[in-house]
Amino acid sequence: MQAVVFPAPETITIETVPDPTCAPDEVIVQVARTGICGTDVHIYRNEYMSNFPIIPGHEFGGMIVEVGKNVTDFQKGDRVAADPNLYCGHCYFCRNEQANHCLNWQGVGITRPGTFAQFVAVPAKACYRAPDSLTDTQLAFIEPLSCVVHALNRFRVWPGDEVLIFGAGPMGLILVQALRHSGASQVVVVEKQPDRLALAAQLGATTTVLVGPDQDVVLKALAPYGYAVVVDATGIPAVIEQAFDFLKPRGQFLQFGVTPITASIQLRPYDVFRNDWTIIGSFALCYTFERSIAWLANGVVDVTPLISHTLPLTDFPAVFHHFAAGKTLKVHLQP
Ligand SMILES: [Zn+2]
Ligand SMILES: [Zn+2]
Repeated sequence: MQAVVFPAPETITIETVPDPTCAPDEVIVQVARTGICGTDVHIYRNEYMSNFPIIPGHEFGGMIVEVGKNVTDFQKGDRVAADPNLYCGHCYFCRNEQANHCLNWQGVGITRPGTFAQFVAVPAKACYRAPDSLTDTQLAFIEPLSCVVHALNRFRVWPGDEVLIFGAGPMGLILVQALRHSGASQVVVVEKQPDRLALAAQLGATTTVLVGPDQDVVLKALAPYGYAVVVDATGIPAVIEQAFDFLKPRGQFLQFGVTPITASIQLRPYDVFRNDWTIIGSFALCYTFERSIAWLANGVVDVTPLISHTLPLTDFPAVFHHFAAGKTLKVHLQP
């Protein structure tokens, strides 16, 4: 089959590789759509937990073409998405409702071959059957949406809260839509690209603010006492450092964007103490696929406007660099 391979950091090839073989508890899925994610960029730059060579890709949907001999609940022809986070089910964290911290965690497209390929092998227990009403595009959004569901499970938005989101990339734009349903009074979005801000407004942001010299004055005027919830969806350390300037006393800060592993910021512990702040992390997802599917099936989150490109696998190298430079929104590949 044809696959995208990162043979080493900062290197991309399109190769013919052997088709995956189906282990007894696994299925083989023919990939219909698969999305490029910021995590893939971190993997490419060797800023994440992958080893090389790797076939990247973890956001996808497709059709089962082969089932392992122990698989009883899926059949050939089933349309599925799969949770790329593979949990062992028997470690301390799996048995304590924190499967995303599984001590034996494996990731499709992270630690084992991923979905930028015609076929991928995944454990049957990671698969979710898709409602017929969902398009292939929507299937490939179940995973990123599940990460937003997990993030929202990590904290509480109180009725009337002011929400401030830094970054209107594909994930920021999903967060905008999800937080519009949370009871927040304002969902304010800060972003440096005007076209992304226009989309944020279309998808429910109450105010959009262009990054620039006036930004701080505008943000302070919108919420003079600060924002009850501040979300980083950029993963940029300088943005994160500055985001705390807008957090209200007793506010909750959500670190959603993925920074390079070694990045650091300066934060005064006194400010955390004096302001009753809560700082929240949100890693991947944790059995949140069903809720994500429910959002999509009921039209709560519209993902169609988030796609800027749908391309064949062979276009991966060129479009990947555009994606990494922030010049595209979500890119889907059709292997
Ligand atoms: Zn992702
Ligand atoms: Zn485990």
